[in-house]
Amino acid sequence: MFLISSFTLHVRLTRRWAVFCQSLSEINIVVQQLDEVGREVKLWLHIGGGHYLSVTSGFRCVDLRKWFQPQDQKDPKPTRKGIALNFDQWVRMRNIVEAINNDHPVLAAALPCYMQEGHLAMFECRECYPFLKLA
Ligand SMILES: [Zn+2]
Repeated sequence: MFLISSFTLHVRLTRRWAVFCQSLSEINIVVQQLDEVGREVKLWLHIGGGHYLSVTSGFRCVDLRKWFQPQDQKDPKPTRKGIALNFDQWVRMRNIVEAINNDHPVLAAALPCYMQEGHLAMFECRECYPFLKLA
């Protein structure tokens, strides 16, 4: 069994939050294209570890989800750990990001994993490259 300290978990979460915040404009543009213009979109963002955010034509939602690599298959699969926000919920989420950052300076100041000092060579970091197929 693999145990992870709460400190390590906290650091990972702040780094993932940083990636999420940096990607807000990109996500908003894609949501707008899909919602208002009906354009074909396929956004696939790596948040960190097995966590990905996606916006895809045909699904009117912003999907935040953990993926895993089954040992006997070559492609990662989505887990049930995640949430699909409809666009109204997404707008509400987007609007509280600033308040969250204001209330939690540690989160606001967090940097993505790859920007950390002494970061491993890119492909060696399991936070940045959890699956070979989904890098
Ligand atoms: Zn990393």
